[in-house]
This record gives sequence, C-alpha cells and structure tokens, in this order.
Amino acid sequence: MLISARNAHAFRGFFPCSCTTGGEDWVEWLELKPEGLFCAPGAFYIDPLQPVAHAVITHGHSDHARPGHDLVTATPETLAIMRLRMGEDRAGQSQQALGYGDVISIGEVRLWLAPAGHVLGSAQVVMEYRGQRAVVSGDYKRALDPTCEPFEVVPCDLFVTEATFGLPVFRLPDPAHEIAKLLHDVRLFPERTHVVGCYALGKCQRLIALLRDGGYHEPLWLHGALLPMCNLYESFGVPLGDLRSATTAKKGEMRGGIVLAPPSAIADRWARRLPDPVVCLASGWMHVRQRAKARGVELPVVISDHADWDALLETCQATGAKEIWVTHGREDALIYALGKMQIRGRALRLLGYEEEDEQAEQGASA
Ligand SMILES: [Zn+2]
Ligand SMILES: [Zn+2]
Repeated sequence: MLISARNAHAFRGFFPCSCTTGGEDWVEWLELKPEGLFCAPGAFYIDPLQPVAHAVITHGHSDHARPGHDLVTATPETLAIMRLRMGEDRAGQSQQALGYGDVISIGEVRLWLAPAGHVLGSAQVVMEYRGQRAVVSGDYKRALDPTCEPFEVVPCDLFVTEATFGLPVFRLPDPAHEIAKLLHDVRLFPERTHVVGCYALGKCQRLIALLRDGGYHEPLWLHGALLPMCNLYESFGVPLGDLRSATTAKKGEMRGGIVLAPPSAIADRWARRLPDPVVCLASGWMHVRQRAKARGVELPVVISDHADWDALLETCQATGAKEIWVTHGREDALIYALGKMQIRGRALRLLGYEEEDEQAEQGASA
C-alpha cells in the first residue's frame, strides 16, 4: 500500500487549498507501507514492524527496535541496547553506528540523527531530499532527563511526531517535584520499604539519576531484571551510584530503603516478601487516578518519557513544519489543535507502535 501525503490529505479533507502554498511543498517521498514508514529514494524503513533489508532505528524500545533486519543504522547506544535485549545475532546482520550529527548519504538522501531526549541513544531521523527536509522523531520528551542528550529542535518541512499523551488533560508535573514527593514519603515511613515499578529501559535509569540529583545517595535495591540495562548505561558514562541486587539482599537490609522493580513485579509475590512494602509506580499514566487505584498503587509517581500535551504542541510549532504526521494513537485532538495553527496534520494509524508504559502495565519487563 502506498499512500502519499497529498492523497491522504485530499481524502481526509482536513485542509482546503487556501491553507497551502501549493502542492509542490508536500513531502511525497515518505510512504506508509505494511512494514512501516518507508523512504523510497533511500530504500530504507524507519522503525519497521517487520524484518527488512535496511532499517533506521530511532531507539531501543521493543515496539521500535525489532529483530531480524539485514542492515540496521542507529546510534552506538541504540545498537548496544538492541544487542543486549535481542542478542548479537538478531540485532541486525550488519550494524551501522551513527553518532548524533554525522551525515551520511543513502542514494540521493542525506541522513543524520539528532537527539530525541527519550532514552539513552534515542534519535530523531533527519532526511533531506531534493530541497525538502523531513524529521521522524520516534518517541521524545522535553522534560529533564540526566541520562540522555536533550531533544534538539530541527527545523523541517515535515515532522513526524508521537502523540502518546495527545490530549489536553495530559499536562504532567515537574519530575523533580515527583521525586521530592517520593523522598518525602520515604522519610515519613522509615519502617517501610518503597518499591517503585519502572520500565527497564529508560525510566529505571532516569528515576535513579533523578533520585541522586534529589540528594538521595543511599544504596538502591534493584530487581534482577533491571540490572543489565543499568550496567549498559554506566558503560556509556551515565553514573547511577550504589546499586545492589534486591534478589540476593537480606530482607532487613532493605527496610526504610527504595527498591526498583519491573511494573509486573510490584504487586506480586516478589514484592510481598519485602518489609512492609509501599507500592509505587513511575509512569505518565499515573496522572490518571483511576489507573493508579486499579493497579493497587499507593504512591503514584507521575514521570513520563513522552512529551505531554503542551510539549507536543510547542515542539510541533518550533520545528516550523507545515505538515505533521502523528503516530501512537490519540491523534485526533492533536491534529485538530495543529489545524488551528494552520499546520496540516495526518494520522498514521497503521503504524503499530505501543506505549512502553502500557506494555509495562500489561506485565512485560524487558
Ligand atoms: Zn519509546
Ligand atoms: Zn513508542
């Protein structure tokens, strides 16, 4: 299936001709195929859903970085994350490491990667072809994260954005405030053990770094599933302080401390063996009270690795793009808001990206 942007817009009828400066400036060399987003003149896919000959990967989360491609182009950090998660042999038959800002040519397409501020190594894919520039952001955020390079605004004609929190109700609090709330609770209940559910790639390491920035330098106790990725972060120069295995610790040692575990572990037998646990969960979805309640979360920690509503709008506008394509569901509100700013929006519903916090909620710990 080939859907050009022009046809999609004409079909959906979002924008009358008076909004446009003429058809010439519409980006038509990126196509949606069953395998994913395809750059035709460079013959490569971005974050494809199925094995392909050449994949450019934005970051290591499992819905974006999938196994079995022939050639994988990504940052050195993302390639290392892929090798750790899926094994050397499944992380691409050959791997091409590209540092931020290093420009390569693929056919007539000039390509480079820019920081996305989402997790270690996360990148926006910047492509130039015949005078047009398109940027595929992958997942991104603008909020503080000491564990990865901050998001960089790249001016472009077409910006492909996520919309995980693409509703005006999602205005997320300052992460430093959420960390202070957690540390206050830890001080308030020195006899209890705070067990915090967090996704293994990104959220866990960011939480640790924010706790350290918040002045917490005690040992942190980690579920075994979280340790390998923390070691990888440290090998790329992200210091995480004193980390210890919760699995081999004596029960009494962890009393009054903070234990980090995959979300699937916080409400099961594993957590119940901790001394008087306070169940916490670090996720943007904790903004929704009912979700916290339904999961038996005593202390929600509202920290997300995705842009909230204000950050989505601000970022889309800052790129100067006249055309925005939206992934990750909840597109309609964002497309409507963009339309009011004279920016053409299009929903890329066919791309099957999931929200990693959602996966975490469903119990995946990888
Ligand atoms: Zn992601
Ligand atoms: Zn995603």
